[in-house]
Amino acid sequence: MTEEPVFLLWYARGLVFLVGACVGSFLNVVILRIPAGKSVVRPRSQCRCGAPIAWYDNIPVLSWFILRGRSRCCGDRFSIRYPMIELGTALVFVGLWERAGWPVGGVLMAFAAALIAASFIDLDTMEIPDRFTVGGFLAGILASAFLPALHGIESSGILLLDGMRGFREGLLGAFVGSGLILWIALTAETVLRREAMGFGDVKLMGAIGAFCGWQGAVFALFGGAVLGCILLVVILPLQRFRKTEEGTRVPFGPALAGGALLYLLWAEPHVRAYFDNIAGVLEAG
Ligand SMILES: [Zn+2]
Repeated sequence: MTEEPVFLLWYARGLVFLVGACVGSFLNVVILRIPAGKSVVRPRSQCRCGAPIAWYDNIPVLSWFILRGRSRCCGDRFSIRYPMIELGTALVFVGLWERAGWPVGGVLMAFAAALIAASFIDLDTMEIPDRFTVGGFLAGILASAFLPALHGIESSGILLLDGMRGFREGLLGAFVGSGLILWIALTAETVLRREAMGFGDVKLMGAIGAFCGWQGAVFALFGGAVLGCILLVVILPLQRFRKTEEGTRVPFGPALAGGALLYLLWAEPHVRAYFDNIAGVLEAG
């Protein structure tokens, strides 16, 4: 192997990292403005004192650390969440690119960006806007039909057939994801005699299933539940959640989104092999 491909590989990784950091910077704007019903395009980013933030003070990840979390104009504090979302998005993008390459990785990057934005909006407001969940479901079905490789479907040479297979996988994933969480919630409500889950989570599972397939939806739900419990132990003492009459409410959306990302970045081959194994056993019996 010559050295040129290795150099190109790192060049591409660096490029994907930069794109991810810039998308993360945009997601910070989305997370603040979408729940407030404001435009994500205009006006340009401003400090709380009203002064516009110069481009050189708005460099993803770096500016926060150079300015030590304060604005240049008036010294107002910026949360460490901003550079963390930028860095996190960049790392997720590099991971997806490594796993899936182009073009599947590109589609998954867009999906991951939506998951990250939806998670933090859910943390902030206890709600996920429909444009992320219902929009994600529709986008996932479309992506499945036009890019069947998203579900690991190999080209048969007949475009229409591949498209229909992808469409079927996306739709199946969405129905399994939404149906599973809906029936768990309905059962829990009957047993516990109280409201157990929001409808936003049912819609979010539809979007996750459309992009990740039914195996991914199953993993996101159960892996997300485990992930959520771990995060809760770490975060609960640090963050105050909204108190309602029923007690403290904790958003489940970030856990589901985390489960979906974990599936796409790492678990997919293991989970698919696991289900194939079960299917083999069932057929043999
Ligand atoms: Zn200021």
